[in-house]
Amino acid sequence: MGAFALRDVVDECYWCGRKATSAEHVPPKCIFPELKDSEGINYRKNLITVPSCDQHNLVKTKDDEYLLLLLVVNTLRNEVGKQQFDTKLMRLIRQKPWFVSNVIGNANSIHMFDTDDTLIGTGKAFQVDIKRYDSIIEHVARALWFHEYGLRFRGRFEILINGLRYNSVRSIHKMYAVYEKELFRIQQTLLFKGENPDVFRYVFTYGRKGRVHLSMIFYGFQMLFIVMEASCSWSWGMNMKRRRHNKSLELSP
Ligand SMILES: [Zn+2]
Repeated sequence: MGAFALRDVVDECYWCGRKATSAEHVPPKCIFPELKDSEGINYRKNLITVPSCDQHNLVKTKDDEYLLLLLVVNTLRNEVGKQQFDTKLMRLIRQKPWFVSNVIGNANSIHMFDTDDTLIGTGKAFQVDIKRYDSIIEHVARALWFHEYGLRFRGRFEILINGLRYNSVRSIHKMYAVYEKELFRIQQTLLFKGENPDVFRYVFTYGRKGRVHLSMIFYGFQMLFIVMEASCSWSWGMNMKRRRHNKSLELSP
């Protein structure tokens, strides 16, 4: 289906504008459970695709599997995320034990705190390759932008909340917890998109000075918040037009 959809869009990579060679799923298809793993529930309804060159296709770089792993081992996940852990990730571990041990081999035991400093549990934490992770998130965000507006994103890009909750520095994870509570609040007022919301949903909203905010939620609880500031002037007019339709948009911090 993705291949046919390409004809309707420009035949250019969503990121660099070079000739597209395939349709990239955004977010990667592997995070959406296959039918055999989901007791017959279809979690792959109308997945989003964008035209992509080889260089900007996450599947070709295997970064899709890295994202899957980070999402399903996170303590913030719903039953569908747990299901993906028990099925898809376990198969991946059997097929490529080295891949998983390279990523989570250095795990340590940690204590987890809530915003009021109460201990909410213990768990394991491991070092994430932040450069790689940020790059994956940027691919997803740019592809969603392309899908939403039909144009490549050019401008300033910043991940304010990356969904990786715990840090060895206590004050930092407290700060994230505050953001997360704020995001839970805006969930009540914003209309998220995505036809498989238990796996992934997202919404673009509009902040001050022409900034566009992208909020994404994976597996019900893992929230990411991104600021995208397009450098070209068309974005400003577009934001003004959209703003009329969607009023409650700004995060307070
Ligand atoms: Zn490209």
